[in-house]
Amino acid sequence: MMFKGKAALVTGGGSGIGAMAAQRLAAEGAQVAVVDINLAGAQAIAARIEASGGVAIALAADVSQAADNAQAFDAAAQAFGGLDVAFLNAGVLQPYVPFDAVTEDVFDRLVAINLKGAFLGLQQAHRHLRAGGAAVVTASAAAVIGFADAAAYSASKHGVLGLVRSAARDFSKKGLRVNAICPGGVSTPLIGATPSLDIVSPGQLALPPYQGLLDPQQVAEVALFLLSPSAVGVNGQAQLVDAALLSAFPEGSV
Ligand code: NAD
Repeated sequence: MMFKGKAALVTGGGSGIGAMAAQRLAAEGAQVAVVDINLAGAQAIAARIEASGGVAIALAADVSQAADNAQAFDAAAQAFGGLDVAFLNAGVLQPYVPFDAVTEDVFDRLVAINLKGAFLGLQQAHRHLRAGGAAVVTASAAAVIGFADAAAYSASKHGVLGLVRSAARDFSKKGLRVNAICPGGVSTPLIGATPSLDIVSPGQLALPPYQGLLDPQQVAEVALFLLSPSAVGVNGQAQLVDAALLSAFPEGSV
């Protein structure tokens, strides 16, 4: 019970990585606010948590809006009597198109949700989290290298790492930490997959294929570790969770 007696908020909690993280945080003892622009998705995950004996509330919020972030954090803190951990994970992917075909609308949307959303969420986390708490933001392998044909996505995710690194000292002054995870490919609706929502015991997780797709829980477990007191020495860092995607050129490519 890594999070017994703690209160958590998860954005993008209605699907994919966030849905798994919300369920796992609850299984580890946390009360969880499942936040998503898709309220039905958030409600479904909160209901799964409650059905498993946990405590959860579902909240609608568009992370690109300052007022929505403030309302979600305020509501969660009020419901649970405070907040300890925040997993700022909501994000969107753009259609893969050549660099010169990225439209201004797409660029603005990706930056508003993926980058400004992380900024607004981190400001709320810094304001609300109790000493000893932590925030984790979901960036991407596309925060570490540029993904061809995904310029707006890559730029928005690179920006997330700048935010996390810059915020670390101010989080530390309040007894808090902030880190990023950088997933490789993950089987979620973001890339057209429909993974199982069932959680497995962390010790039973399968090894993802070398440089292959990960399951959402394989990523969520790393977020939980960084949110937990076990990671007390980790602040302002970015952790790749990519099954070695960026560790080496594909075989035979050089
Ligand atoms: P997903 O589509 O399953 O989940 C994303 C969730 O975010 C959805 O429930 C969606 O409704 C919510 N969301 C979207 N826009 C929102 C907004 N404006 N406000 C609030 N909620 C919003 O996808 P996922 O793969 O679980 O994505 C989670 C995070 O992981 C994203 O930040 C994504 O960029 C990142 N990521 C995913 C992959 C991958 O291959 N799936 C790889 C690297 C990084």
